[in-house]
Amino acid sequence: MPNKNKSFLPGAGLEHSIELLREAPKVQENLPDGIPNFGIGELETLELLAPHVFGRAARLDDSQALAHMDPPTPWITWATTLWNARLNQNLLHPATAPFAIEAEKKVMDWLVPFYGMNEGHMCSGSTIANLTALWAARDTKGIEKVVASNAAHISIEKAAKILGLPYEQVATNAKGQIDPNKIGDISNACLVLTAGTTATGVIDLLSLAGQAKWTHVDAAWAGPLRLSQTHAQLLDGIDKADSVAVSAHKWLFQPKDSALIMLRDVDVANSAISFGGGYLATPNVGVQGSRGASAIPLLATLIAWGKEGIADRIDHSMSMASVLATELSKEDNISLWAMPETGVTVFRPLTMSTEAFSQRLPDGMFSHCVLDGEKWVRSVAANPLADIDKIILAVQEAVRR
Ligand SMILES: *Cc1c(COP(=O)(O)O)cnc(C)c1O
Repeated sequence: MPNKNKSFLPGAGLEHSIELLREAPKVQENLPDGIPNFGIGELETLELLAPHVFGRAARLDDSQALAHMDPPTPWITWATTLWNARLNQNLLHPATAPFAIEAEKKVMDWLVPFYGMNEGHMCSGSTIANLTALWAARDTKGIEKVVASNAAHISIEKAAKILGLPYEQVATNAKGQIDPNKIGDISNACLVLTAGTTATGVIDLLSLAGQAKWTHVDAAWAGPLRLSQTHAQLLDGIDKADSVAVSAHKWLFQPKDSALIMLRDVDVANSAISFGGGYLATPNVGVQGSRGASAIPLLATLIAWGKEGIADRIDHSMSMASVLATELSKEDNISLWAMPETGVTVFRPLTMSTEAFSQRLPDGMFSHCVLDGEKWVRSVAANPLADIDKIILAVQEAVRR
C-alpha cells in the first residue's frame, strides 16, 4: 500500500509536472485498457498522460491559430488555478473561501459599471449566465416568452426550453443583426440581444435594450470590448439592459470555467434566484451549487495586466482581424462576408469549395460556420500571439495556388 499522505502531498512531483508542461512531450504510449486495480503512482501517471494531454490538444497560442473564441491563457492563470486546485475552496460555503469570495466581489465590483449593471456573480460559462438571466426575468417580471434573433447562441433556446418559455426567433437583417422591423410585441417578453454573435461576431442594435419587459444582453464574446477605450462604444446602449452575460474564458483570457452574470436590479433578481437551505450559512445565489474560485485567476490577470493591459491585447486582436479582412477583400477569389465588427472574420473562396480551401491551410488556423446553408471559413481573433502576416500569406497561397 503506498503511503497515503504522499499521494495527497507532492514531493518533487509538482515541479516535475511543470517540467512536463514546458516540454509538452508528444510521443505517446498506449494508455492501459480500463483503469488499473492498483494504481501505478503519480509520477508514472504524469509521464504516461503528458504526451496525450499535450500532444492531442490544439495549441491556442500557436502563431497560426486564429480559429476559436477560446483564447490562450496567461501563465499567471495557470499558477493561480493550481493554487485553486490545491485549496479546493467552495464559493457555496463562505467558511471555506473567505478570500475567494472577497476576490469575486472585487472583480465584480470593478466590472459591473462598464455594463451599467449593479452586481452579479461568476459561473461556469455564459450558457449558465444566460439561463440565470432568463430565470430572473421569468420569476421577477413574469415574462411570457423569450425573443432573440436566429443568430443567437443555442444556449438561449436551451434556457427557454428549460424554463418552459416559448422561444421566438426573429430574422436577421442584411448586417446579421436582429431585424427591428420583424420584432413583434415584446411588452411581455424577455428580449435577448447578442453582443457578438458566435458565427459572425455581429452586435445586435443595443438601442433596443429597455424596450421589452426584460432585456438580456448575451455579451459572451464581445463583452470585454467594453474595457477598451478604442472599442467600448461598440457596446453603447448595453447599460439599458436588465442583465448581461460575459464569458471570461473567451476574451478575458481565462481558463475554463469562468463567466459573469451581471444584473441591474440585484435585490429583485437575487430574491428570485436565491435559495436558502438548512446546511447553508448564506443563500445559494444562481444556478450552480458548489463552484470554484475562478475569480482568483481573473483577479490575478486584472492586477498583473491592469485595465490597459487587457485592453491592449483586445485592441491588438481587433487590429489583426481588421488587417486580415482588409487583405482578404483585395483577393479577387475570396468573398468576404463583411468587415469584422468584433474580431470575427468570415469569408469563403470563390474558385473552390470551402473544404478544399481549408485542406490547403494548416490545422487549427481557422474554423467554419454555416450561413444561409453555405459553409464559410471563420476566423476568431482571440489569440494575441498570432502572426497575422504569416496567416495572410497562408491564405493568399492557398487561394492563388
Ligand atoms: C460562447 C457563447 C455562449 C456560450 O458561452 P459558454 O461560456 O460557452 O457557455 C453564449 N453566447 C454567445 C454569443 C457565445 O459566443
